[in-house]
Parts: sequence; C-alpha cells; structure tokens
Amino acid sequence: MRPIKGLRVNVPEIPVEESVVLDADKTALIIVDMQNDFVKPGGKLRVPAAEATIEPIKKLLEKARKHQVMTIFTQDTHYLDDPEFKIWGEHVVKGTWGWEIIDELKPVKGEIVVEKTRYDGFYGTPIDDLLRVHGIQNVIVVGTVANICVLHTAASAALRWYKVYMPLNAISALNDFDYYVALRQVSFLYRGVLVEKAEAIEFRGTGKWRRA
Ligand code: ZN
Repeated sequence: MRPIKGLRVNVPEIPVEESVVLDADKTALIIVDMQNDFVKPGGKLRVPAAEATIEPIKKLLEKARKHQVMTIFTQDTHYLDDPEFKIWGEHVVKGTWGWEIIDELKPVKGEIVVEKTRYDGFYGTPIDDLLRVHGIQNVIVVGTVANICVLHTAASAALRWYKVYMPLNAISALNDFDYYVALRQVSFLYRGVLVEKAEAIEFRGTGKWRRA
C-alpha cells in the first residue's frame, strides 16, 4: 500500500456560535474518555492536544454541577486481548492507571460513569435510556479523541434526535485534519451547534440532577 498522491482539500466554511444558553433541566454534559492513557504524559495512547482541554472542560463541569445539570463520563474500557489493540495497541485496560479518569475531572458521587468498549458511547450502554427517562433534549459533547469517540458519540446522539452542542476548545485530536473533520461532520451532517468556547455555554435555571 502507498499513500494517495497529490491530495489537497479545501475545508468548507464551518459555522460557529459565539455563545449559547441551554435549559439546565433539558441538557446533559457528556465528557468522553478523559482518561490518563489518552491525556497524560506516560499514557499509552496520548493525544498531546488533550491537555489544553482540561481547564475548559473543568470550568464547564463546575458550571454543570452548580446548575444541577446531568453529567455523564464515558470511560473507554478494554480487557486483555481486546480486538481494538490490533488497531491502537494496548490501552485503557480496566483497573490500570491509564484507564482511570484524570484527577482534574474526577466524577463525584451521583454523577454517571459509563464504561464503553467501542468508539460510540451509546453502543451497548445505558446512555440513551438515562437521557430519555430524565427528559434530556440537548447534549454537550466534549473530550477526546475528536474524530473517534467524541464524533461517534455525538453522531449517535444526533441520530437519536438529541441536539448536539460542541465547544471548540474542549475537544482534541491527533492532528488538525482529524479535528476539523469532526467539526464538519457534527455541524453539517448532524446539524449540531459548534460553540466558540466551553466558557461561552451558559445554563438557564436549575436541573434536577443532585449530587450526593
Ligand atoms: Zn479503546
């Protein structure tokens, strides 16, 4: 095999909102795979750009907690000899340091942590059921990797008619092309709303999601 030669692509214009205000009781924040293996130095499948997203995600998480917004953490989870290791090498083996969610974004009691085995956070997990029974209509999707687990989770949400919101400074990819592919797909194909930055997402009112 050889790479396709002479590739040049024009990136279509991607629209982005400066700020949005979402109803706290109809919105969920989904934080995708912010685990040591993906984010931290020494991680097995590190995305160097992920580190810069910790702070914006943390601020959004704090805001969500303040407004009692439902928050779901996905945790990529593999057991030994997972077929995904043929593609990516060994990563996020359950129970290891690399599998754990990073300290800065540790879930607190009452927040939902969903272990997932593939890119799509909805695949084989209770996420759709949880969103549905709690009357959620909007999902804010942040985390890593932009064009892999973030995109598949956002896609899966959009296909179920949840409105997807994605702040530009709270997702990360291995290169610019992958990053913009994710934005283009979310915006154009899934009709999600891209937001300039996580700090520009505000919540209206108070949700029902109490933490213990
Ligand atoms: Zn994986």
